[in-house]
Formats: sequence, C-alpha cells, structure tokens
Amino acid sequence: MRAWGKSQIDGREADLLLMEIYGLTKTEILTAADREEKDWNWGCFKDAVSRRVLGEPLQYILGRWEFMGLKFEVTSDVLIPREDTEILVNAVLSGEKTGAKGLEIGLGSGCVSVSLTHHGGLQMTGVDICPKALEVARNNMWDNCGINAQKTFIISDLFNGLTPQKFDFIVSNPPYIPTKDIDGLDISVKEYEPTKALDGGADGLGFYDRIIKEAPHWLVEGGRIYFEIGYDQGEEVKNILQEVGFSNVTIIKDLSDHDRVVTATA
Ligand code: GLN
Repeated sequence: MRAWGKSQIDGREADLLLMEIYGLTKTEILTAADREEKDWNWGCFKDAVSRRVLGEPLQYILGRWEFMGLKFEVTSDVLIPREDTEILVNAVLSGEKTGAKGLEIGLGSGCVSVSLTHHGGLQMTGVDICPKALEVARNNMWDNCGINAQKTFIISDLFNGLTPQKFDFIVSNPPYIPTKDIDGLDISVKEYEPTKALDGGADGLGFYDRIIKEAPHWLVEGGRIYFEIGYDQGEEVKNILQEVGFSNVTIIKDLSDHDRVVTATA
C-alpha cells in the first residue's frame, strides 16, 4: 500500500531542516558543534520542528522537493511529488521519442511535465483546474527548463478549455482515492494536501472514466495514454480502456509489487 505520509520527525528530516534553514551541508551539520551558540537562530528551527510535529509535511515546510533529480517548488496548493510517480514518468520516457507532443491532465506542481521536458525533450501542454497550482507548475518549468509556460500550461477542467488538436500521448496522475478512504489517510495528507488533488469520487475511478472516454478525440492514430493508478485499480482501469477501444493495455508495478501505472494505445 502506498505510504501516504506520517506525522513524526526523524533524524533524516531534522537534517534536511537544518540544511535548509542554516544553509549547511550534511558534513557541516556533523561538525556543527564547533560553531558558537550565538551563531544559531534556534527560533526558526523550533518553528519548523513544531510545524512538522503537528503533522505538516516536511516538503511544505521546506517549500521544495526533489523529483526525477530536479528541484520542485511545492506549496500547499499542489500535491507533493511522490517517488511512485517517477514510474509514470519513466514509462512515458521509454515509450515516446524526443519531440513528441504530449498533454498532461492535472499538472499540480508540474513535476511530470517538467521532468518529461527536461529528461525526454518532449513538448508538453498541461492543464489544471486550480489557478494557484498552475502558477507553481509554471515556476517549476521556468526554474528547471528555462521555458515560459504561460501559454502551454493552462486553466482547464480536463479537456474543456483546450483548443481542438491532436497529441502523440496523454499522461495523467489524476485524483484516484475513493472519497470514503480520504478520512483514513494520515493527518499529514488529509489535513495538508489539497483534497481536490486526491479525491477521485465515490469509487476513485471517475477521472479515468472521463479522461478515457474523451481521449480518442485528442490522440493521433496509435497515440498512447499513460496513467498513474491506485494499487488496486489496475483491472478496473484496464476494463474501461478496453471498453473504449484502446489496445495493448499494459500494467506496470511499483517496487512493492502493486499496480502503479497503466498504458494503452488508441
Ligand atoms: N501531476 C501532479 C503529480 O503527479 C499532480 C497530480 C494530482 O494533483 N493528482 O504530482
């Protein structure tokens, strides 16, 4: 089962906070006892630790997080980039050629599209329904790739705000947690991460259903679709894809041997 957070501070997290707040390297932390007491502004560190102990994710306190070897700005308006999502990015990188034209539905921090642009030279258009998330995604595109995404990352409820065009592929990590399961998530997730980015409706499959049904209009012949899915959603998403006429449906597992990504051909 996916690790949806925990609300304690451990040594590794304390190190990351010390490194960020005091601008220290790991080695400097180990030798920090040599520094004079007056050099330290303990207030900042104590505030950060208090926030963490109350359950706020470390990533929001730091304001940034690493994904696919790149640094991403993260605010409470976007989902924190997760290691599992690297499986989605790697699936697209192996399936698509440099220059291919892709659409991402639900940019959030932009971690998926920015990584695909940076590592694969893919040409990404992205949509998100939340204006604040879009701002974060555009900043991340600029900071990591030097690309102004004002016109390519746009506000849209799924496909609704897009001008008709064809893409070589569509990628999405949509909200997929069934509404009734949200309450059981760790406090660091349910009270701090945007519910809109997590809640996939009654059965968690609503976004897959809507995206898959519309996708054929937006894909070139033989275009691919790539989804991140919940650990128990592989068969159901596969069925929706096959009902709509997609072929070559492939399910990719994560390191815990759970279904994590589904790909298919239009
Ligand atoms: N694409 C973003 C990510 O993978 C946002 C996903 C979301 O908000 N559901 O982190």
